[in-house]
Amino acid sequence: MARLIQPVCRLCRREGIKLFLKGIRCSGDKCAIERRNQPPGMHARRRPKLSDYGLQLREKQKTKRIYGMMEKQFEVFFDRASRAPGSTGEKLIELLERRLDNVVYRLHWVASRNESRQFVTHGHVRVNGRSVNIPSFLVRPGDKVEAVKKEGVAKRVQAVLEMLQDRPAVEWLKLDAAALSAEVLRFPTKADAGLPVEESQIVELYSK
Ligand code: SF4
Repeated sequence: MARLIQPVCRLCRREGIKLFLKGIRCSGDKCAIERRNQPPGMHARRRPKLSDYGLQLREKQKTKRIYGMMEKQFEVFFDRASRAPGSTGEKLIELLERRLDNVVYRLHWVASRNESRQFVTHGHVRVNGRSVNIPSFLVRPGDKVEAVKKEGVAKRVQAVLEMLQDRPAVEWLKLDAAALSAEVLRFPTKADAGLPVEESQIVELYSK
């Protein structure tokens, strides 16, 4: 499975916002955005004003990086969103949020989406009683997602849950922290995702 291997703090600096790619470190004062919020590269301060195309490209790159996806994968999601009824941009966000690796991240079982992808591919997650090791698996309302009943996995998840207990829970997932399981209550919305992204710019970009 392809994944991002470049220094991830550079990606945040490139976008000028926190993309939360490094887990716990992102909330501390060692975050590169807190220390040096300027684009990477020697001529960072001299970059010209972005064109419309540039703005659209940045919104797409930002979204892709937040979810840790490669270009091809992202295009597949956009294609699916564009064929669904309703707003393509909102459907895109809904599909991205429904990914199993995102669900594990939103439940605070791990500290970053990178870790959650590994958590899923290592077979630590079951959906409706069946092991699922595909990060892009899409959950639906009524699905029951649970961490496997292994001592090492449970300890690791409980430790992260404790560490991140101040983070707000998402409303479309109902977590049972003791059982390390959760139920999908409904499809997520753009508001649930709370992304610093203008999805209409992504739609414009792909409509060219
Ligand atoms: Fe981004 Fe996290 Fe690095 Fe901060 S610590 S720059 S939020 S990846």
